Amino acid sequence: MRGTTGPGGRVSPGRVTLVGGGPGSLHLLTVGAVDALREADVVLYDRLAPHDNLRSLAPRAELIDVGKHPGNHVVGQDGIEALMVARALAGSHVVRLKGGDPYVFGRGSEEVLACHEHGIAVTVISGVTSAIAVPAAAGIPLTHRGISHAFTVISGHAPLTDRELSGLTMLGGTIVVLMGVGTLPTLSQGLLRHGMAADLPVAVIERGFSPTQRTTIADLGTILTEAALAGVESPAVLVVGEVVRLAYRGDLSAGQMMDRAEEFLAADSSVPGWPVSGRTAG
Ligand code: SAH
Repeated sequence: MRGTTGPGGRVSPGRVTLVGGGPGSLHLLTVGAVDALREADVVLYDRLAPHDNLRSLAPRAELIDVGKHPGNHVVGQDGIEALMVARALAGSHVVRLKGGDPYVFGRGSEEVLACHEHGIAVTVISGVTSAIAVPAAAGIPLTHRGISHAFTVISGHAPLTDRELSGLTMLGGTIVVLMGVGTLPTLSQGLLRHGMAADLPVAVIERGFSPTQRTTIADLGTILTEAALAGVESPAVLVVGEVVRLAYRGDLSAGQMMDRAEEFLAADSSVPGWPVSGRTAG
């Protein structure tokens, strides 16, 4: 018999696999994710996880939408954990399918702890995080030799403190913000207040990997106005940094992109012909 002994000596024949589903494209599901879904008895999935093809990926599973919408959680976090634990204790293989990577602002570690508390075996399958893949889908590399050799991924769920803003300004490199649409005003104003250059380019990439993916590019001094004009909405990934100047619309070959980077490095300022202000691309 397969099983796991819990703290009270209890045996749970079920198990949980916490799966990072990537940022929404089936192409970015890992082989491990596909295998886990194929074997699942129950799938609890989130709004940002790829779920359009779930029926074919998890042919024999019960599919449960526990999708979280901002301010309107279909099932709260406690409810999700309770459901996951109850189904695993009843003997099911539960796949908890999350968007991106489970350990990047995904509350994945809380769900793992909930399993441990109940003596349930749990495996974590990492996913491709939106923090890297969504900028890439808009042609933005987070690092580029000579332009940026660091990136910081932060949650914009709550406004940053002055200490954090000052740290970001001093560190340099690329700043990536998830859940940052609501706090864009405090972020852009805060970075400017702490001395970041007003002409530093900023990109907001909405709904990455969907047919309505859209990129708005401006600079730190104008992004608020441009984002309001474009009506940007969550989910979106924000990128602040010189690498945004390398953005392309998916129509450049790798060689052409290198040429743009060389041009950028040679000019030591914005690349001619690639204005950053107020550019929105579908
Ligand atoms: N664990 C996830 C992040 C969860 S926080 C990951 O690793 O990707 C949710 C935030 O992720 C959203 O508010 C948004 O900022 C970002 N996000 C996730 N998927 C996205 C997508 N397809 N397009 C744009 N932003 C996305």
